[in-house]
Amino acid sequence: MSRAPGVIPRRQTLSVKYCLPMTSIQPNVSLKPYTTFKIGGPARFFASASAAAEFRAALDFARREGLPVFILGGGSNILVSDRGFDGLVIHPAQKGIETKGRADGTVSVRIQAGETWDEAARSAVEQELWGIENLSHIPGQAGAALVQNIGAYGQQISDVFESVEVMETATGALRTLMREDCQLSYRASIFNTVAKGRFIILSLQLRLRKLGQPNLSYRDVRDYFSERGLAEPSIAEVRRAVTQIRDRKFPFPRQEKGGNAGSFFKNLQLSAVQYEALRARLARGNPPAVLARLDEIRRRSPSEPIKLPSAFLIDICGLKDFQIGGAQVNPTQPLVLLNRGGATAEDVLALAGHIRRTVQARTGVAIPLEPELVGFAPGEIERHVRRDA
Ligand SMILES: Cc1cc2nc3c(=O)[nH]c(=O)nc-3n(C[C@H](O)[C@H](O)[C@H](O)COP(=O)(O)OP(=O)(O)OC[C@H]3O[C@@H](n4cnc5c(N)ncnc54)[C@H](O)[C@@H]3O)c2cc1C
Repeated sequence: MSRAPGVIPRRQTLSVKYCLPMTSIQPNVSLKPYTTFKIGGPARFFASASAAAEFRAALDFARREGLPVFILGGGSNILVSDRGFDGLVIHPAQKGIETKGRADGTVSVRIQAGETWDEAARSAVEQELWGIENLSHIPGQAGAALVQNIGAYGQQISDVFESVEVMETATGALRTLMREDCQLSYRASIFNTVAKGRFIILSLQLRLRKLGQPNLSYRDVRDYFSERGLAEPSIAEVRRAVTQIRDRKFPFPRQEKGGNAGSFFKNLQLSAVQYEALRARLARGNPPAVLARLDEIRRRSPSEPIKLPSAFLIDICGLKDFQIGGAQVNPTQPLVLLNRGGATAEDVLALAGHIRRTVQARTGVAIPLEPELVGFAPGEIERHVRRDA
């Protein structure tokens, strides 16, 4: 996504003050078309940047004007406030994928941050390089893929990640961070936790394998191949399978109706003690079928942390197609909240808040939000939904 409709042409709107040598800063740009939710108000200022000098010029501008900065990739893991973002949005636009073979049979793949993630997955599969085929068809840019350590169908980017080139937002200095510096874990890294806002990711390096085995650890993928009698699928067949499975579950947000940000809630990672407390709670007042499903989840996750799908809890609370305003729980995958057309950010937050409160009251468990909430006043988020859990 490089240009959105509604961007005000530079000639008409920019005063000399905003014409920087390397990059143009546009005022009052609607963020809605830049998000997969198709929700949100305008950015006070907006800049696309492709080269280090352009990122630096944009950061200098924000510093001079005393503006907060938000880095916007493909907008597939954020909810932007109806009032928009009162600062400078910087959109990485640099593209490119380079591969370099190594003596040990692995291949280094350097991906520019503004590259579409799925383009990187497609390119790896085409070259028969194993390691990210199960991450096919996840929306967004490559840079942001590292921010929340994207994962799907048994693979995470952390399995193949080597290093990342970043710019420090405070100084504009370039640095290379190695795998151990980035503290990648379930949907987390330093970039969305301890070092949030400190770096702009410019490019990342993965190490993929020329020889590999299909990762069929997820039941959906296994079932897909056993139904077709394929025991040893090729890498291209794995990509096709994952793409088809995902398209059944996640409405790919191409237009406003059905707009979404993927999973709005993270799954849970429970200790054995927390799991037993949940089981005891569900044993009171739920049909045996609910406990049977919980036990099945436990069997699939025998050791700590016990992985508990939040969708299970939303489902047993009877919220599978619950709707507030234009926002609705996706009936086929209740982790996903949908923009049914004309939904506001306020509708989505109200729905998320209702889900969290209902699940907590019925099960004792607080389900964590996944997307970043952009441009909301702190009190506003608290009013609808507590962010902490
Ligand atoms: C239909 C659908 C399905 C999805 N499925 C999955 C899935 O299976 N697994 C999964 O893990 N996620 C999934 N997601 C979530 C989302 O696609 C990923 O989190 C993706 O990596 C976000 O990329 P983005 O470019 O859209 O980031 P954005 O939403 O634009 O930004 C997300 C965060 O990253 C920061 N950021 C973006 N670029 C940079 C940069 N260059 N430097 C520093 N910070 C940056 C932003 O400031 C923000 O904090 C799904 C989303 C949708 C809509």
